[in-house]
Amino acid sequence: MERIEATIETSMFEDVLCVRMSRVLDGKPLYWVACYLVDGLLVDTGCSHTAHELVSFLEDKEINAVVNTHFHEDHIGANSLLAKRRKVPAYAHPASIPLMEHGFHLYPYQEVVWGIPEPCTALPVPDTIETCRYRFSVIETPGHSEGHICLFEPEKGWCFTGDLFSRENPKFIRPEENVADMVRSLRMIDRLPSERLVLFTSLGRIVEDGRAAVANCIKYLEELSRKVHGLAGSGLDEQGIVERIFGGEHLFASLTDGQYTSLNLVRSILKTAS
Ligand SMILES: [Zn+2]
Repeated sequence: MERIEATIETSMFEDVLCVRMSRVLDGKPLYWVACYLVDGLLVDTGCSHTAHELVSFLEDKEINAVVNTHFHEDHIGANSLLAKRRKVPAYAHPASIPLMEHGFHLYPYQEVVWGIPEPCTALPVPDTIETCRYRFSVIETPGHSEGHICLFEPEKGWCFTGDLFSRENPKFIRPEENVADMVRSLRMIDRLPSERLVLFTSLGRIVEDGRAAVANCIKYLEELSRKVHGLAGSGLDEQGIVERIFGGEHLFASLTDGQYTSLNLVRSILKTAS
């Protein structure tokens, strides 16, 4: 079998080890994904193309449990290998578990960039997860997908956001994403009770002023929704709205087999009453 070339980069933020991983194609990283190890808790496991590198890297590190923020292929890729080698339990939202066990449709671009994850099992995630030194609250945060959770450590103000937050101004989404749910979930994160909020995103970006970033993202999505409904009210169709606001589709739309589009963003907004 062809061995996929992959690379890993690591960094520390306070007590959190950030592991960024990517398939390497033509000598270059293709697309970074991240997982985090904190006090024996592994949050997400990257994609299947990087599973061997990740599990080797983690060989001498303590892992007592895995939590998957959601079932997507770039978050559960090393679960199966970790279960075999380390015998640690994995936890996920109950709606994610059947999709982790039985798989789901992947587009060709997903197979190239991340690979097809081996089926894996998980236990329903409890409301809180305690490690030796920390206590993480599990927050249900649909929007990017069903069965999506964030983990929050109130003493430290750390929040592991999975794919709920990756940038302040998303311009394209997948067809199954829901903007209204996204805004509701972001508001929950915004109201988390801690002095500061540090976001650990699934691309490996750590946002130290997480509160401002989340507030900006909510504001952006609310303003975008007003604009989209306004243009629809004046008679413009979905495609026309995409042209007017975004100047057409981003290159990402064609690179992702038409999955990540601004049209999906506009459609999701129009499904909700203004
Ligand atoms: Zn995802």
